[in-house]
This record gives sequence, C-alpha cells and structure tokens, in this order.
Amino acid sequence: QATLQLHCRIACMDDDMVLLVAFDDAHARRVEAVRRDFVANISHELKTPIGAIGVLAEAVEAAKDDPAAVERFAGRLQTETGRLAELVRQIIDLSRLQAADPLLEKESVDVAEVVAEAIRRCRERAEKRHVNILNVHPTDTRVLGDQWQLTDAVTNLIQNAINYSDEGARVAISIVDATENGEEFVDVKVSDNGIGIKPEDQERIFERFYRVDYGRSRSSGGTGLGLSIVRHIAQAHGGSIKVWSIPGQGSTFTLRFPAYHPRVEHRKEVP
Ligand code: ADP
Repeated sequence: QATLQLHCRIACMDDDMVLLVAFDDAHARRVEAVRRDFVANISHELKTPIGAIGVLAEAVEAAKDDPAAVERFAGRLQTETGRLAELVRQIIDLSRLQAADPLLEKESVDVAEVVAEAIRRCRERAEKRHVNILNVHPTDTRVLGDQWQLTDAVTNLIQNAINYSDEGARVAISIVDATENGEEFVDVKVSDNGIGIKPEDQERIFERFYRVDYGRSRSSGGTGLGLSIVRHIAQAHGGSIKVWSIPGQGSTFTLRFPAYHPRVEHRKEVP
C-alpha cells in the first residue's frame, strides 16, 4: 500500500475564501537526494588533495636533512594547496549559483569586453602551452546580466579548450548574432582543435564532477566543476550551453544568451 504525503500551503485568503495548494513531496525528495549526492561528491573530492597534503607534509619532515628533496616536496605541497583552494572556490561558486535567485542585479554587458577579459585571464596558460588564441572581433553586442559571472563562464570554456588540446593548438573565439523562432540571441563560440569528446560523454560533461579522463583533468588543475558552473551561469541568464565535437578533431562550445538592445539615449544638445 503506497502512502502519498502532501505538503499544503495557504495560497490565497479573503473573508469567505481559503485556497489550499497541495504538493506531493516527490519534488522535495528529489531536491534532497541531489543535495545529499552533492555533499557526498564534495567529501570524496576533498579527500584527494587533503590526503596528498598530509603525505607531502610528512615527506618534508622526513627529508629535512636533504634540502633538494625538501624543495621538491614543498613545491608539490604548494600545487596541492592551490588545487584545494580552487576546488573550494568552485564549490562556493556553484552553491551560490544554485541558490534561489542568483541574479539579483543585471546590467547591460558588452560581450566583446567579456571575451577580451576572459582571454586576458587565460593568456599565461596559453603561452605556457604555446596555444594560439584567436579572437574574431564582433560588433557592438550586449546582453543583460552579471559581467563577472559571464566572464567566468567564458574563461572556463577557454581554459578547457587550452587544457584539452595539444601544445601548439589553436583556440578561436567568436561572437555571433543568432535568431531562433523569431527571438534574437548572442552566441559566444569557443572552438578548439584538441582531443574532442565522444558522443556518449557530450551530455555528461555538464554534470558536477564528471571527467572523461580523470588524470588529464587533474594534471591540468581541473576540478570537474567548470562546465556545471558554466551551465548554471547560462541558465541564470535565460541562456544555454551546447557542445559539438568530433573525437580527435576538436570541439566547439556555444554559450547562448538572449540579446539585449538598450534604448538609445537622446542626450540634450549643449548649446
Ligand atoms: P575539468 O575541471 O575536469 O576540466 P569541466 O567540468 O570543465 O571539468 O569539464 C568536464 C570534462 O569535460 C573534462 O574533464 C574533460 O574531460 C571534458 N572537456 C571539457 N572541455 C573540453 C574540451 N574543450 N575538449 C575536450 N574535452 C573537454
């Protein structure tokens, strides 16, 4: 015998009318299961860098009479601490984005400026890996949103394009005006000629902590959270993220946002 639990809420009331809205609790249970899953994943992911830091700290202690070894272990200690800090930063970002209303203040954002800043943030990594970033210059295109979130999303995509390509690869970023069902959009496309993604992985890469190749993700400082953060940012802006990829040839990620046309302000002529 199945039991159905209902949550009730008084939705509207006046002198002679009470409206009771009943919810079955399946949705609440689903939300709770997702939350529990996230916490379990986080605990698991935190164990790796914390474990490594513990082992390396012991190694430094044991090697104290060997300055070269101490230096080597101290360097790795710094790398692991950096990884841990990045993981915690991304977990906080993701939980903020999952909160009920992450986009309280929207402003008119210049998409070209977002792309330029994202490229600046990735320049050092690109130079290290001899990756050539090509910015196909756009027209004056604007979206309504949070400049820093949008920059984070594009930065994540460019970083991935660099990380999952061989040295000397090419990453191209373009901003394209698009129309679908009569609605106008702005697409930011990040293309690489890197390792590509198999069709069965293409949907899963947007899940939290999903990596196609754990070793490669970890060695490039990945946390497995980047694309789920990008997806949350896209959704919070009424947009979407899609991938097109051919294994061995490369990938194109398309971030789509509703276009925004601010009203032209007529300034008074000063005589
Ligand atoms: P990570 O921190 O591991 O990069 P992401 O959420 O950003 O996590 O990406 C999830 C996985 O998707 C990566 O581990 C990688 O396997 C795959 N991936 C993401 N971007 C690309 C790309 N441009 N080319 C090939 N694989 C990619």
